[in-house]
Order: sequence, then C-alpha cells, then structure tokens
Amino acid sequence: MYRLMDLSSRAAYEKLLERVLSRVQSRGTDRGERTISLTPEIMHEQKQTIILNFRQLADALGREPQHLARFIFKETGRPGTLDSERATLSGRVSDEELGKLLQLYFKEFVKCPVCGGIDTKIVSEKRFRFLVCEICGAKTPIRKI
Ligand SMILES: [Zn+2]
Repeated sequence: MYRLMDLSSRAAYEKLLERVLSRVQSRGTDRGERTISLTPEIMHEQKQTIILNFRQLADALGREPQHLARFIFKETGRPGTLDSERATLSGRVSDEELGKLLQLYFKEFVKCPVCGGIDTKIVSEKRFRFLVCEICGAKTPIRKI
C-alpha cells in the first residue's frame, strides 16, 4: 500500500523546512565551528508582520541587518522598517515565505558556492559585489541589493 505525501499541506512543508534548516546547521558543525540557526520569531499584528529576532538572525548569518532587511523588503515587495532588534514589514507575510527567504539569502549571500563554507564576507569593488570565502578563497559575483 502506498501513501502519497501531500506537499501542499502545512505539515509537509514544515517538515521540508525543518530538513533544510537542519542541513544549514550541520554544515556549520561539520567544520567544528559555529552553527547557524535561522528560525524567525514572527508576530502578526493588524496589518504588519514583525520579525522579533531580526538582529539575531543577521548576526547568525554574519551580515549587516540593513543588508538582510533590504533583501527581505525587495523580495517581498513590501516596504518596512528596521529598529535595533526587530524588522517590521507592512502587510501580512507568512512564516513559510519568510523562512524561504532566509534560506535564499543564506544561499545567495552567505554560503560559498564552491566549498559550502559559511565563513564568507561581502566585498565591494567599484560597482560590483563579491562573496569572498575565507576558507577556500573563492570569489563569487553577487547582485547588489
Ligand atoms: Zn569556499
């Protein structure tokens, strides 16, 4: 007897997300260094979506909160504000969408596409931006946001 998995269901999605998140974490532990935990704490309030631990998420990713915020605002197409700890988006953005965006950000702006390392930094050269890996030295062009 076969059981089909319904990917559109929330439970299945959460399982998927969990798997992706734990993969991110294990990458860090493989190197015996730090782990990245990307679990947004989200509060929905009237017509706003507030990410309570925004600074913590940016710190975990090793990026400026402003950079992560510009990415989220741009990708969701929603204006927002940033204060010392939290980011606030206008409108309702689902937890799933935010979780997915953090994964995208991690893939595009943190993780080295060559060795998979997470000890990277963003370097500006004239109009261009690069992701420079401190482990393997790879230099990968990234988009400016
Ligand atoms: Zn690398």
